[in-house]
Amino acid sequence: MTLHIATPLIKSRPLSLAAGRAVWLKLEALQPPGSFKLRGVGHACEVHHARGARHFISSSGGNAGLAVAYAGRALGVPVTVVVPETTSARAIELLKLEQAEVVITGSSWQEANQHAQGLLQPGDAFIHPFDDPLLWTGHASMIDEVAQSGVKPDAVVLSVGGGGLLSGVVEGLQRNGWHDVPVLAVETEGAASLQAAMVAGGPVELPALSSVATSLGAKRVADQAFACTHQHPVFSEQVTDRAALQACEDFLRDHRLLVEPACGAALALAYEPGRLDGYERVLMIVCGGATATLEQIRDWLNKQP
Ligand SMILES: *Cc1c(COP(=O)(O)O)cnc(C)c1O
Repeated sequence: MTLHIATPLIKSRPLSLAAGRAVWLKLEALQPPGSFKLRGVGHACEVHHARGARHFISSSGGNAGLAVAYAGRALGVPVTVVVPETTSARAIELLKLEQAEVVITGSSWQEANQHAQGLLQPGDAFIHPFDDPLLWTGHASMIDEVAQSGVKPDAVVLSVGGGGLLSGVVEGLQRNGWHDVPVLAVETEGAASLQAAMVAGGPVELPALSSVATSLGAKRVADQAFACTHQHPVFSEQVTDRAALQACEDFLRDHRLLVEPACGAALALAYEPGRLDGYERVLMIVCGGATATLEQIRDWLNKQP
């Protein structure tokens, strides 16, 4: 038994028509806490639990924190999530629904994270949102499931924040012998920390983030995410916030699933003409995301230039 579920893999008629080629969807949005994060976070929590951890601490007010809260409740381990004052009321409500203790402190994630580190006692496990080999090994299971289904794509599309999903998917592709299947790594223009690393020749810190895709808002990618770009064919792609938001609207119409703009960013490659040229069978990781409401997405869309 794992904490995550095996998700459906479906061939999407609407996205295949929009993109002019076969588009397969790995529906990670259906994980109980709403995103793929449960794969890696669940694996990390199980390993720490087996080693005797009695308390999990997270500093993510987003989907990683939600996954830790879910995993802790499932394992009977108390969870504390430290979030900055900027965290949305919706995210805090979702964390409390999972019975996490929520500590709201600091004006930025850096300050909340520092507070969280200070809380760590012997017997506590800190669960990072993206930079931990346990997470990548857990995320890799989504590619095992695709391989077991008998569908071999000729490209994988996913979104990149801190690069945990990218690191896990590359691990999954390689452990299934799919060294020849490239990854299209999508970021929004205001959160393009992987692109910056590829240009600079190593991870660099972005001076600022400016994107509605808050789940992609890591100023610097994990070293492993950058290393993946040398160990595997990885192509960096960027989309506008508008394209990511529009993809959320289109995907809701086409598949009746509401995802965050962080996920819309990847989906936008199917909806924007020409972005998948050269590929015939594309696998899109529908990473999901639970923290944006439809009202919020429409409000952001109305405010786009
Ligand atoms: C965390 C997250 C991402 C980005 O994942 P990283 O591992 O940080 O690159 C993308 N989409 C959603 C919905 C997320 O929760």
